[in-house]
Amino acid sequence: MTDAYGRLFERVLFPAWESGLRRRPTLRRLRYLEQTQWRSRDELEATATGELRRLLVHAQNNVPYYRQLFADTGFDLRAVRATADLARLPLLERHVARDTVKQRTSTAGPPVDVHKSTSGTIGTPLVFGYERSSESWRQACKLRGFAWAGYRPGQRSLHFWGAAPPTPASAKPSLRERLTKLKIEIDHGLRREHYMDCGVRGAAQLDAVIARIKRDSPEVMLCYSQAGADLARRVIETGARTWGTIPVICGAERLYPSDRKALEEAFGPAVFETYGSREVMLMASECEAHAGLHVSMETLVVEVVVRDDGQGGSVRAARPGELGEVVITDLTNHAMPFIRYANGDMAVAGPEAVCACGRALPRLASVEGRVTETLVDGSGARVNGLLFNVVIAHLAHAIRQFQVVQHKDRSITLRVVPTPSYDATAEATLRATWQKYLAGVPVKLELLDALPISATGKRQVVVVER
Ligand SMILES: [Zn+2]
Repeated sequence: MTDAYGRLFERVLFPAWESGLRRRPTLRRLRYLEQTQWRSRDELEATATGELRRLLVHAQNNVPYYRQLFADTGFDLRAVRATADLARLPLLERHVARDTVKQRTSTAGPPVDVHKSTSGTIGTPLVFGYERSSESWRQACKLRGFAWAGYRPGQRSLHFWGAAPPTPASAKPSLRERLTKLKIEIDHGLRREHYMDCGVRGAAQLDAVIARIKRDSPEVMLCYSQAGADLARRVIETGARTWGTIPVICGAERLYPSDRKALEEAFGPAVFETYGSREVMLMASECEAHAGLHVSMETLVVEVVVRDDGQGGSVRAARPGELGEVVITDLTNHAMPFIRYANGDMAVAGPEAVCACGRALPRLASVEGRVTETLVDGSGARVNGLLFNVVIAHLAHAIRQFQVVQHKDRSITLRVVPTPSYDATAEATLRATWQKYLAGVPVKLELLDALPISATGKRQVVVVER
């Protein structure tokens, strides 16, 4: 149930902000996506193929990396009749994406308006960007996906989520940084979004979140999956539940069946998994039928593929129910295209049939690749293993790769491969992070030229020796 403020925000304040002040077509696109979600698979496929052709023509004409790739592989984009024809192109591996930023940038616009970076799941920062128009598609997809969980802008929401890295005591924030922070706080306040840092999850921190839930009666909660599960277990353990059903939208980490069970017991049956990444934001979300995650096919081609030789020479689509690698083509990013980008995550391909909810949008049965090892601080409180991913994404200019290892005695070795831009400020940010989140744990920082790669070719970012 949305109250009067929620209705005012959704109908008046939010449209005024998005469409009027920020001049973003987000809401028009949301209305479009709310209609297209009910279209047949054939109609969706036809639209996606049209968008894909537009992207490929643009890439051929204006993006040096793809012009070369199409020439080298004899790829004829005029022969593209369906999104499945993408299979004729090789995968864009993450390290290649990292090393081809300039060559993958369009020489004829649109300009890269939004610059971001991510540490992803293999510990190597990736710098990327996209145009403003793509940002509004991302926001619209997020709003649609969250709406399946009952979320509406302006509702009282509690976000038990990762925080930005702490500012080292030595660094004074600039006026610009302080203004940005203030702007975000006002924005959160208007939207009635309350953020609580899920970095450390000892009893005291979890009890503070429970107290906040009792005080604010949030209409929806958004959690890192593992953080939400820890919170749910604390609610059950302490018999704290005094509320009815609070929908919980989970993201950023894998949601195990046992976690879902705990969340359902603590907050009711409305538990929704989502899958996204910094590169493209929300890719897929669970609907009210709770039978897998629907992919936003209007803006993304998401494939699940299997490398039959284990090397990548021969790649095929995973069968329904089969585990494979996630491969993304972003139909809205023309500034710095991602075409068949293997993001390092693993997922199980969903069933072909139309979902019980009536939507023909394709489904992922589950997402397996965001397993984050959980660290512990000096008192034994659980600390999110994604912590360093978040911090190092902010330090992408200074850090090339990293790995965090927690030894049996709880001490931690943080291995970092620095870039030439690594400096005292970067080191101070790392230090401030472990002092804040890993109190009582000795941390040894190692600067290395390279990190070892395991036999499988994957590097574990967080290793917990138990
Ligand atoms: Zn559905």
